[in-house]
Amino acid sequence: MKPVITNFSRSALKGELATLGLKSFAATQVLQWLYQKRATSFEEMTNLSAENRQKLAEHFQIASTKVLDIKNSSDGTCLFLFELADGKKIEAVYIPAESGRKTICLSTQVGCAMDCTFCRTGQMGLLRNLTQGEILEQVLAVQNCFPEETITNLVFMGMGEPMANIPALVSSLEILQDQKLFNFSRRKITVSTAGLVPKMFEFVKQSNVHLAISLHAPNNALRDQLMPINKRYPLEQLMEFCRLHSKGPRNRVTFEYVMLKKVNDSLELCKELVQLLAGIPSKVNLIPFNPFPTVDYQPSDNNTIKQWVDILYHAGIQTNVRANRGRDILAACGQLAA
Ligand code: SAH
Repeated sequence: MKPVITNFSRSALKGELATLGLKSFAATQVLQWLYQKRATSFEEMTNLSAENRQKLAEHFQIASTKVLDIKNSSDGTCLFLFELADGKKIEAVYIPAESGRKTICLSTQVGCAMDCTFCRTGQMGLLRNLTQGEILEQVLAVQNCFPEETITNLVFMGMGEPMANIPALVSSLEILQDQKLFNFSRRKITVSTAGLVPKMFEFVKQSNVHLAISLHAPNNALRDQLMPINKRYPLEQLMEFCRLHSKGPRNRVTFEYVMLKKVNDSLELCKELVQLLAGIPSKVNLIPFNPFPTVDYQPSDNNTIKQWVDILYHAGIQTNVRANRGRDILAACGQLAA
């Protein structure tokens, strides 16, 4: 297989093209065609000479993934199924909102090793990490499917644990935030983690995007049951990270909390959560559990969720309830399993 353009950083591509005798600005031109002008072949890159386009086509592949299927939810959400070069499959989700916000939810791994009990992706186990190109091509495919729309937000909340794939995550963020390429601002990108604490310290040294933490329980006993990763990095360590990180400017942490009926949704637990977050500039996203066939969990009652919002609000914690977009096509949080 020829090297794939989407796997290169801008500077690495410059070096590569220099060896073929192309000028140094050609790398930026090629990447702008690909990421800004949504070209799908070298032929379209008409500000490069015919000879250079020929050279590019001889030495490189423009992409490596294929869109196998697109499912449309009744709420406008679209589930994209990709086939990777080795035949493995991943999913990404396009989520247009009434507010005008248009979000892509991206995967970072094929499957996931975290094995959270309420998540469908975890049941697949981990098959492998995605490459930079496989992450970026998810964005390209959605953009190309909706040529009229401007994508406003990116969330790394699809399949996989982003902190377990920092190299490809960070290098794809570099392209996504590059002002000459995708130009997404740091405030429009959120990376979610189950809490691989040492990797989180490593990540925030390399990236300034927003972090969301999957909390799901306010004490170790319950979190151990729901998220095996807690046994390795218990809440004391996770909250220590949050305390240190939230001291930085504009580094408020978002906590995600999946609402599982009669499992983690009692009002006592809500008060325990308020205690746990005391002193940490934080925001809470309550996620009504999205059911799938192979587990017994039920989503919390709306009334319970309302009571949680009240308690958190009165404790001065900004709280949102995440809409369960795409549930009917198994495209909502925790339902991805290509
Ligand atoms: N591995 C990362 C990103 C994946 S999922 C992480 O754990 O944060 C994005 C969010 O959806 C996480 O908060 C995850 O815990 C949550 N989630 C998983 N399964 C879910 C389900 N069935 N219903 C609702 N949310 C779920």
